[in-house]
Amino acid sequence: MAHVTSNLQIDSTRLWEAIHETAKFGATPKGGVRRLTLGAEDKQVRDWFRKACEAAGLEVHVDALGSMFALRKGRDMSKPPVGLGSHLDTQPTGGKFDGVLGTLAALEVVRTLNDAGIETEVPICIVNWTNEEGSRFAPAMMASAAYVGDFTTDDILSRKDAAGITVAEALNEIGYNGDKPVGFQKFSGFVELHIEQGPILEAENKTIGVVDSGQGVLWYDGKITGFESHAGSTPMPLRRDALATLSEIVLAVEATAKKYTPKAVGTIGEAVIVNPSRNVIPGEIAFTVDCRSADAGVMDGLDAGLRAAIAEISARRKVDVKLDLVWRKPPTHFAPKLVNAVEEAATKLGFSHRRITSGAGHDACNLNTKMPAAMVFVPCKDGVSHNELEDATQADCAAGANVLMHTVLALAGVAS
Ligand SMILES: [Zn+2]
Repeated sequence: MAHVTSNLQIDSTRLWEAIHETAKFGATPKGGVRRLTLGAEDKQVRDWFRKACEAAGLEVHVDALGSMFALRKGRDMSKPPVGLGSHLDTQPTGGKFDGVLGTLAALEVVRTLNDAGIETEVPICIVNWTNEEGSRFAPAMMASAAYVGDFTTDDILSRKDAAGITVAEALNEIGYNGDKPVGFQKFSGFVELHIEQGPILEAENKTIGVVDSGQGVLWYDGKITGFESHAGSTPMPLRRDALATLSEIVLAVEATAKKYTPKAVGTIGEAVIVNPSRNVIPGEIAFTVDCRSADAGVMDGLDAGLRAAIAEISARRKVDVKLDLVWRKPPTHFAPKLVNAVEEAATKLGFSHRRITSGAGHDACNLNTKMPAAMVFVPCKDGVSHNELEDATQADCAAGANVLMHTVLALAGVAS
């Protein structure tokens, strides 16, 4: 006899309690969480998560980069599982929801299926990906990037934090240097629930974001070489001022991105004057540029527009500007079949929803290059994230978890 699953709901209180119980690991006085990847607090939350998964009857395996895979058997074990999950590490001044919601909602889905006695046709597998945040070790999302083959395991294991500790040493220290090779666990698809980390759902009073795309990224390193000279005795027309040049470049980045609004964003987040001095005209500046869009054509337009603006500024000011593209990540277009499954689940459950582009990068974006993936967003207060003030309502978290569960049920099927 087939189980009736259409009215199945997760336990909102149990999910909310799990979120707040794990928020104790690395809790900050301002109500946020500081849980740097592979640190002592990360070990605490990982141990809690492993125990909770085992108590729910899941088989937990850890790969060579510390990512945790908790498998719930299905009727047909010849098929790869449907994956669901996110990450449990946080920014140095992070919140309670970023990553945590998606991981603990996945656990809540399993607990709900267990309570209802539901067996899925295809197995399902919860994942806690190592180092999504990238604040202790670079790059961000390193474990899912290695999973899809963008980096070798050895390369990632050798990455060092600011104190010179390698990923391999940090994994050893907390006992999460797993025995499974990276990529050992195959998936038929992957679904990640996450807070939006932006203001759109809240502004439009929508409960669910059906994420159909993710922004591509252009990262540049820039260097401006002008000429250092005396701030008092050098007449204005004779100056080759690196900082005045940068000021124009900052506005050019802003104008170039604005030209494509709302399809692009552009930021200069770092700028360093070499040998700064109050009475010296700046001669050398290093800076970075971060441009993003979910449209590959717009990304090309951003690149061309930026280069043209910089060429004009540098020629007019007789200052040398070098702009090196150090990273280009193409936009993500999530698998239509999974995006539709998310949308159908939201509709069936009666939640207001809209299609949305992810402004931030996520493990699901990496995974989508090798398997069908999709994401579910729920609103967060004022769109704030990567901040101790990050907040989301219990009702929205529960709504996201329910959409996650019904999406996974649609993909994995219910065994009859
Ligand atoms: Zn996250």
